[in-house]
Amino acid sequence: ATSSDGELEPKKSICPFCGVGCGLTYNEDNGKGTGWEGPVNTRGELCPKGAAAFEMLDADDRITQPMVRENGHLVTASWEEAMDRVAENFGEIVEEHGPEALGFFASSNCTNEENYLLQKIARKIGTNTIDNCARLCHASTVAAMGKQLNVGAMTNTTDDLGEADVFLVCGANPAEQHPVIFNSYLGAALRDGTEMVHIDPRENQTTQQADMHVGVTPGYDIPVLNAMAKVIIEEELHDEEFVAERTEGFEAFEEHLADVDVAENAELAGVPEENIREAAHKVAEADRVASFTGMGMSQHKYGTDNVHALINLVLLTGNIGKPGTGVNPLRGQNNVQGAADVGASPSSLPGYQSVEDPEVRADFEEAWGFEPPAEPGLTEVEASHAAGDEIQGLYVFAENPAITEPHSDRIHEDLQEAFLVVQDLFMTETAEYADVILPGSAWAEKEGTYTNTDRRLQRVRQMRSPPGDAKSDLEIIAEFGRRMTDLEIDYDGAEAVFDELASVSPIYAGITYDGIGESYQRWPFYEGAESGVDILHEDEFYGGEKTAPFALVEHIDPGDEVEEGELVLTTGRVMQHFNSGALSRRTETLMRMRGEDVLEMHPTDAEERGIEDGDWVRVENERGEVEVEVAVTPAIAEGTVFMTFHYADPLVNRLTGDYLDPVAKIPEYKHSAVSVSKTE
Ligand code: SF4
Repeated sequence: ATSSDGELEPKKSICPFCGVGCGLTYNEDNGKGTGWEGPVNTRGELCPKGAAAFEMLDADDRITQPMVRENGHLVTASWEEAMDRVAENFGEIVEEHGPEALGFFASSNCTNEENYLLQKIARKIGTNTIDNCARLCHASTVAAMGKQLNVGAMTNTTDDLGEADVFLVCGANPAEQHPVIFNSYLGAALRDGTEMVHIDPRENQTTQQADMHVGVTPGYDIPVLNAMAKVIIEEELHDEEFVAERTEGFEAFEEHLADVDVAENAELAGVPEENIREAAHKVAEADRVASFTGMGMSQHKYGTDNVHALINLVLLTGNIGKPGTGVNPLRGQNNVQGAADVGASPSSLPGYQSVEDPEVRADFEEAWGFEPPAEPGLTEVEASHAAGDEIQGLYVFAENPAITEPHSDRIHEDLQEAFLVVQDLFMTETAEYADVILPGSAWAEKEGTYTNTDRRLQRVRQMRSPPGDAKSDLEIIAEFGRRMTDLEIDYDGAEAVFDELASVSPIYAGITYDGIGESYQRWPFYEGAESGVDILHEDEFYGGEKTAPFALVEHIDPGDEVEEGELVLTTGRVMQHFNSGALSRRTETLMRMRGEDVLEMHPTDAEERGIEDGDWVRVENERGEVEVEVAVTPAIAEGTVFMTFHYADPLVNRLTGDYLDPVAKIPEYKHSAVSVSKTE
């Protein structure tokens, strides 16, 4: 893993893959990543992705020169030509259609500083249509937590989770997706006697270590969680003192559940009634329960309500504000938490300050010299769908919507409708549609900070220069801003950008590069405080509220109706790959470990269709079709099939629908009706 710019120089940096945020440096002896004893991976442990993180830096299709589209083909160009092309086209769009006709996709894989600067420029141009792929993974979690708990982030820290007596894991697979947290923190507690309840349609490595599995049908989490709450209230197992002192609306909640029939809910969700009752007892009788919520909960048409139902259980049992408790969404990307923290969001400015609040806008006007627009912008999927219509120009920074957004055939058409600028490392499936490509810098080629899943800011350090004519992402964004606005953009490096971010974001106010050093600082870290807050909601809820409300939610059927003979397709991840695969599919070691996707299918469903393990099948619905090899396994529930979303072929999102959660606008990736038949 060397480049034309010379050998890598090992420095203490942070893994660019998942939200765990392991300390990672370069091992000169074997050309691989090696863990240093970071704040999270305290023994220097890494998973296979972290160890292979250097391999993609010199992938064959690494883009090392700007490119522009000429006569339908992408050809290399100088930076001057490429930036002129962007400024001219975006300038014309703003002149003809107004600034709201531009949309920006920021990057959950890139630094806080890059995302902060891009959102500031978008707002100076005059639009709030800037979003990041949190929209596709945990937007609903953030919305539900924001509504009930005032803030959408892990309430606890990895360090205190081990104090739980029970882990309640809903729609998440931390053993494979967050392996270092699972093995080093949760695993140690499990070996020490902590029990684990796993609510998930699929048996995976997390289930293998669980004490009980609730194999819910995709889309039916609320019947399970509401029935658990009903059992707890009926048997008077709730925490009366906590409910009286720290919650509001209990009577209305109790009344709301009056009609819930545990047996009926169990049948609806496809799980035995005793399973629900046992899970309810485990949660209510434990002294401390730490809850985890993943994309199995969030990626639904009513994902926000799913998470509300879990928060209700947490409030009912008083499991918040103490070590070993809380609501803990384990975040997928290395900086998905940070991208939202710094304002790459259509409705909030840095520090989750609402664009609709005139006082907030006045503060930003004072700090930035201009008032940000007041109207919330479009979310990521809304902006893609508006391409060619409301949106005429799209700037996609290190994201790959051609793979990650639902109903791919439609998205592939959408991407051709707008003037598309892609800033990325590789010729991704999205870059293939670009009008201009700006070659940027990989994680080992930049300075900055990432914010991990438990709100820790850590520093990434540059180990080499970007190859060829590729440039620092921060410099590309700065140059774009100079061309498109009259902002004075003359920061002396990433630290200067961070200092400005901290000055406008109260939750980052006390954090500095020096303070982070080779360790971390955690938000919220208010001005004048000695350190950040570890466990949220201890004596009062975030923002100073004494009480948190229950939310009254009930089951609503998923978007796709499942016809006779159809199966429910649910999608997810495996340990060896990462999200759209843009990075991990360019990593030889990871491709050797898992080179292609398979469709997991229950033996009964396979037998009914005359399908055997290893057969190739066509999976189809009205939106599209893919062909894939079958793995027959009892690990997947009968009636459900599973594929990952890491591959371009088969591209599973050709089958997923674009039903959006009405609150968070997250798509329903976890429930699509499909037919499966053997190919000839
Ligand atoms: Fe990287 Fe996550 Fe693996 Fe740690 S657990 S090495 S952060 S992918």
